[in-house]
Amino acid sequence: MRRENYFKKLISKEQIEVKINELARNISEYYEGKEVLVIGILKGAFIFMADLIRKLDLKTEVDFVELSSYGSHTETTGEVKFVKGLSTEIKNKEVLIVEDIIDTGLTISYLLNFLKKKDPKSLKICALADKPSRRKIDVSIHFLGFTVPNKFIIGYGIDYNHNYRNLPEIYFLDE
Ligand code: 5GP
Repeated sequence: MRRENYFKKLISKEQIEVKINELARNISEYYEGKEVLVIGILKGAFIFMADLIRKLDLKTEVDFVELSSYGSHTETTGEVKFVKGLSTEIKNKEVLIVEDIIDTGLTISYLLNFLKKKDPKSLKICALADKPSRRKIDVSIHFLGFTVPNKFIIGYGIDYNHNYRNLPEIYFLDE
């Protein structure tokens, strides 16, 4: 597939597939016998979530939220707002949030605080990637795919200026 020549491959399709199987096994064991509401954060998590939930051996309901943070395409400013809210009742449900990348932690912390007030039975996070070097707020990631370096990540649902979400592998921007 076409990509820019300053994109450098970080994680292959095969590595992603192996990781998804491992995550799905762990999640299925953790929630065994329970029903789970999986909430994906748009837009970045849509491909990861679609692959992940098809491997879960659980009764699963899905919903999506879309959050936006202000700033340029490579920086987050910390101001978060809802572009799309929940369309499902979450009270007394086992809720698993699926996120693409946790960077400063501001986006996921904002969402966690919002969801906690709605009394879910449990609230856990599954993230495809963690970029711990820029963390501003401590976040417990219960199910993690990959720890990535402090680089701008692209592909497998994650964009570069609204494009390239359809790349099947994960790249970083080589500046
Ligand atoms: P945080 O609030 O944790 O700083 O950032 C979370 C959001 O910022 C992610 O959901 C993602 O949308 C965006 N983000 C953080 N790091 C990257 C990155 O390396 N590449 C892209 N495309 N988006 C990122």
